[in-house]
Amino acid sequence: MLDSVVRRPQRLLFALIAFMVVLFFTTYLSLSSWGSEQVRTHFESLKAAFNKNATQAAPQIQDDVASIAGSGKPSHTFMDGIKTIDDLRPFAVKGKDGNLYPPQFVPHEVNKMPRAKAGFIVLVRNSELEDMRKSMRDVEDRFNRKYGYPWIFLNNEPFTEEFKQGVKKMTRSEVRFGFIGPEMWGYPDWINQTYAAEQRKKMTEEQVIYGWSESYRHMCRFQSGFFWRHNLTMDLDYYWRVEPGIKLFCDMDYDPFVFMELNNKKYGFTISLHEYSKTIPTLWDQTKEFMKKHPDYYAKDHALHFMTDEPEKLLEPGYNMCHFWSNFEIADLRFWRSKQYREYFDHLDKAGGFFYERWGDAPVHSIAAVLFLNRSQIHHFNDIGYYHGPWTHCPMNKAQYHDNGKCICNPEDVCVLLTQSADYDNFMCMKEWWRTSIEGDANKL
Ligand code: GDP
Ligand code: MN
Repeated sequence: MLDSVVRRPQRLLFALIAFMVVLFFTTYLSLSSWGSEQVRTHFESLKAAFNKNATQAAPQIQDDVASIAGSGKPSHTFMDGIKTIDDLRPFAVKGKDGNLYPPQFVPHEVNKMPRAKAGFIVLVRNSELEDMRKSMRDVEDRFNRKYGYPWIFLNNEPFTEEFKQGVKKMTRSEVRFGFIGPEMWGYPDWINQTYAAEQRKKMTEEQVIYGWSESYRHMCRFQSGFFWRHNLTMDLDYYWRVEPGIKLFCDMDYDPFVFMELNNKKYGFTISLHEYSKTIPTLWDQTKEFMKKHPDYYAKDHALHFMTDEPEKLLEPGYNMCHFWSNFEIADLRFWRSKQYREYFDHLDKAGGFFYERWGDAPVHSIAAVLFLNRSQIHHFNDIGYYHGPWTHCPMNKAQYHDNGKCICNPEDVCVLLTQSADYDNFMCMKEWWRTSIEGDANKL
C-alpha cells in the first residue's frame, strides 16, 4: 500500500480528496434534516456547491469533523462559521425552479437557549392522522419550530406506516413511536369484567355523552397511571400533552418547559371546568380514604381551595367538581413518578373506579395536584390560547395579547354553550382557581 503511494504520489492526493468528500457529506447531512426528500435535495445541491466552491467550504467542514472526532461533540456548529450570505451560498438548495433556496436547519442548531429535558406526549389512534397533523402544525408554528422538542406518539395498536410518515412530515424534530402493551392497556386481575360491562351499560342508557366506551376507560386509566412510566418517556422531565384536533391561538415567544423549571412549577393548564358528577360517584370518597392513611401527604400550602369553599376542613366539605382539563397539560413527569402519586394511583386502581364508574384522568390528575403540590407549583398558562372541542381559552387582556398581534382569537366568542367569556362563565372554574392561586385573576395583573 505504502509502496504504491510512493510510486504514484498522486494516489495520496486522490485518497485525501475522497476522504474529504465523505466527511463533507456526512457532516452536512447530520446538521440538516426535514425528511428524506429534503436530504435528497440537499445532496443534489451539495454536489453542485462542492464543484463550485470546494476551496471555500472545505476548511470549515474539516474543522467540525476534527472536533467531533476529538471530543465526541462539535466545538462549534455549522451556523457558527457562517456570517454572510456569501458564506451560506455553498449550502443553498437548488429548487425545481432552478433558484437557490436558503438551507433548513435543525431548530436547536440555531437556537442556543438551554433546553429542558422535555417533549410532546401524544396518545393517538391511526384513524386520527389528519387531526393529528393539524395539531402539529399549530404546535410547530406557534412554538416548536424555534425549539425543536421531540414528539412521542403512543398507541395501544401498532402505528401504521401511513400514520408514521404522515406525522413525521410535520416536524423537523425527533419523532418516536411507542406501543402500549396489555400491562398498561388492559384489565388488572382484580377487576370484575362482567360487573364492569354491566355498569357501562347502565350508564349508556342513562346518559349519552361521549366517553362511555370500554376503550375510553382504558384510555383514562393509561393517562392516569402509565404514560409517565412508558419506556419512551423515561428520559424526559417535562412534557406537553397534545391531542389531535386542538388549536393554538397565540405565538409563544418563550420556552414553557424552561419556564416550568425556572419557577419550580409541576403542573400547568389552560382550561378548568366542572366534571360530570355521574362519572365519579365515589372518587372523592376513595381520595378521603387514601388521605386518612397518609395525612402527611398534604402539601404545606396545598391548593384545595380550588375544590372546596372551606379548604381548612380539607376533604370534609365534599368536591365542587372543579378540575384542570387534562387534554392540555404542561407538567413535570417526576410529579407522577413521585411516591405520593404512585400510591394514590394504585389505591384508585384497586378501587376499580376507572372501570366500574368512569373516572377521567383529568379529575385524578387535578385532585393529586391540588393535594400534593403547593399552590405556587400549579400554573395557569393564561398566555396560551387553546381550543379543544367544545371549549376555548382565549386570553382577555387586549393590550397584552391582541393589539400586539400575539393571539388570534376572540375572548368573547369562545363557545356557543357559554353566555360570556370562558374565564368568567360559571361552567368554568377560573374563579375558583383565582381565589386559590398566588397570582390571582390574570386579567387584573
Ligand atoms: P375526549 O377529549 O375526552 O373527547 O377524548 P378523546 O377521544 O379525545 O381521547 C383522548 C385522547 O386519547 C386523544 O388524544 C385520543 O387520540 C386518545 N385516545 C382515545 N381513545 C383511544 C384509543 O382507544 N386508542 C388510542 N391509541 N388512543 C386513544
Ligand atoms: Mn380529546
